[in-house]
Amino acid sequence: MATIDGLPTLREVINAHDLVAKRQLGQNFLLDLNLTAKIARLAGDIAGSDVLEVGPGPGGLTRGLLIEGARHVVAIEKDPRCIAALHEISAAYPGRLTVIEGDAMEIDLSGLLTPPVRIAANLPYNVGTELLIRWLTPKVWPPFWTSMTLMFQREVALRITAKPGDEHYGRLALLCQWRSDAKIVMHLPPEAFTPAPKVHSAVVHLTRLEAPRFPADEKVLNRIVAAAFNQRRKMLRSSLKSLGPDMEALLDSVGIPPTARAEEIALERFCALARAYVERGA
Ligand code: SAM
Repeated sequence: MATIDGLPTLREVINAHDLVAKRQLGQNFLLDLNLTAKIARLAGDIAGSDVLEVGPGPGGLTRGLLIEGARHVVAIEKDPRCIAALHEISAAYPGRLTVIEGDAMEIDLSGLLTPPVRIAANLPYNVGTELLIRWLTPKVWPPFWTSMTLMFQREVALRITAKPGDEHYGRLALLCQWRSDAKIVMHLPPEAFTPAPKVHSAVVHLTRLEAPRFPADEKVLNRIVAAAFNQRRKMLRSSLKSLGPDMEALLDSVGIPPTARAEEIALERFCALARAYVERGA
C-alpha cells in the first residue's frame, strides 16, 4: 500500500523489525501517518524549528514531523530494537533526522538542538509527567524549548489544563499555567493506538511564557502550593499552618478567605500569597 511519504507502512516496519510492543516501555504505537501528520501540524512552526521527539518507536510521529517540514528532528529512543527502523527514515530525509539511542531521562541535550526548539512526543506514560515537570522547571527561565506538543493519558491532560473548582485542579495545573499557555488540542480514543491502551488520550500544546504569568519566588510558591494541595479538602488556615503562625493573617492580607480550600484558589492568588510570604520575612 502506498504511504504519503513513499516509505513502507508502519505495520510493514513493525513486522520487518519484529517490534512487538513492550508494555514496560509504554509502547502504544500510532500507525496512521495522516493522524501523526495532523499532530505534527499542531506543533506550530516546525519548518523554522528543531524538534525534540522522545520515544519515536517505529517512527510514526517522526515521519509526520518530517512530512510536515520539520527543519531538524532529534529523536531519543530507549528501545534498541527501534533504532534500525529509525535509521531507515533518516536515510530518506538526509540531514534532517538525528536518532539517539538512550534514556531521555539521562541524555544531555546540550549542543544537539539549535533554537528555536519545539518538543513533540507521544510520550511513554510511565515517564511523561516527570519529563514535563523537568522541562517546566529548568535552572533558568526561559527554557530551551518554545512549545511542547505532548500526548498524555486524558486524565493527565485534564490535570494540566484544569481551572479552579475542577476536580483535576492541583499542583500540575498551577505549575503548567504559571509558566505556559496550555490547552488540549486533540482527543484520541484507545483504538487510535496499537496495541490499544485501557485509557483515553489527549494531546496538550504548551507555549512557554517569556516570564512566569505572575511574579513569585519559585521555591516559595512551590512550598505553599504543595502544602495547600497535600490536604486539598482542608481549609487553607489549617493546611498552611505548618508554614508559620501568621498564615491566617497573611491569607486575609491577599484577599483569600482562610476558610477557603486549595482547589478554589486561582493561580494569581497563590502568587500573591507567595509574595506576601516573602515580604513579611519568612
Ligand atoms: N512515538 C511512537 C508512536 O507515536 O507510535 C511511539 C510512542 S510509545 C507511546 C512510547 C515510546 O517511548 C516507545 O517507543 C518506548 O520505547 C519509548 N520510551 C520509553 N521510555 C523511554 C525513555 N525513558 N527514553 C526514551 N524513549 C523511551
